[in-house]
Amino acid sequence: MNSWPKFYLPPLEGYQFPDLKIIDSSKGLTGLKSGSTFSMYVCGITPYDATHLGHAATYLAFDLINRYQVQSSKSVSFVENITDIDDPLLERAKRDGKEWQQLADSQIDLFTSDMSALRILPPDHFIKVTDSFDLIEKFMMRLNESGYLYILDGDYYFSVTDFLTDLPMSIEQASEIFAERGGDPQRAGKKHPLDPVIWLSNREGEPGWSSSFGFGRPGWHVECTAIACHFIENESDPIIDLQGGGSDLIFPHHYMCAQIVRAAYGRNFAGNYVHTGMIGLDGEKMSKSKGNLVFVSELINKGIDPMAIRWALLSGHYQSDRQWSSELLNFASLNVEKVRTALSRTEVAASNDLIQSIILDLANNLDTPSSLDRLLSWADKSEKEGNVNQSGEVSRAIDALLGLTL
Ligand code: ZN
Repeated sequence: MNSWPKFYLPPLEGYQFPDLKIIDSSKGLTGLKSGSTFSMYVCGITPYDATHLGHAATYLAFDLINRYQVQSSKSVSFVENITDIDDPLLERAKRDGKEWQQLADSQIDLFTSDMSALRILPPDHFIKVTDSFDLIEKFMMRLNESGYLYILDGDYYFSVTDFLTDLPMSIEQASEIFAERGGDPQRAGKKHPLDPVIWLSNREGEPGWSSSFGFGRPGWHVECTAIACHFIENESDPIIDLQGGGSDLIFPHHYMCAQIVRAAYGRNFAGNYVHTGMIGLDGEKMSKSKGNLVFVSELINKGIDPMAIRWALLSGHYQSDRQWSSELLNFASLNVEKVRTALSRTEVAASNDLIQSIILDLANNLDTPSSLDRLLSWADKSEKEGNVNQSGEVSRAIDALLGLTL
């Protein structure tokens, strides 16, 4: 499907862009792949409660990576899916007495307008699972040929046993998390409790699609791997450079994606796995079950400047679990105004060192809190001793690098 409109990215010339370093969830601090191309797959929303601030924070982090790589003259290929058929979506539609497609479409619309308002660059391919059955089936056939699929009462499972060598926790711990996040470790007849479902045969009252694996629908992990490998197809190992998402996707989702691709292609899936921290509200974890989600659209409908929301999210580090509060938002609004005032001056403090320092902050695992501090110091200095006509440079740089259009 169409993603939201692109934004003009002002080019930044005359600055040094070192290779971006990030903290990979298994490798630790590492440089992203150097070279002229970069491919990134970010796991998309299940469209039933979009877009809460946790989603926004995640897509914002990968937007910074995208922007940095584009400014480093790399050709970026960015794919994002929409999990528009999944248990939570069907459950929510049933609870609210809605058609699941209607619920999904309305939430996708909301999500794209929120992404646009927050100035998050759109993916090159924004792919609904329900538009992808052919390529998912093709991927499953490849997986089946590798001998790692088996059938259990009409459902197909991936046999993960041969690939568990790098499991980052005990089987018991993994089974517990697997059960919490959509897995079925207790199901009798499975070869291994951690085997994930790849194709679920149709359940009464649920939507289904015809395939050579029967009438049903795909499992979560195979959707992302099939979509990523289709749209970022190449002969390289790893197949894509980065898979990203929230830290709740580390296990089982991204772990299983990696093992499924190993089985299907005999190659690694992603060069790096990068995850964002969770956003809490007033000291509590923000979650569906607690009913304390804060939505981007609600804030915007109240008249909040999307750039203040963006600033508030950038003021914490993307990988730390952090809190949202009205104080944080108010503070961000004040800071946005302060920088806007500085940018409106005819004479400001010099911009070159500021811009190069922001680039170096970003290169250092997206250290946005430092970048914003520098920007505020520059605004203070501009007020006291502004003497050069360079506000345009700063304005273009923070637009291009941080997505702050002030
Ligand atoms: Zn995914």
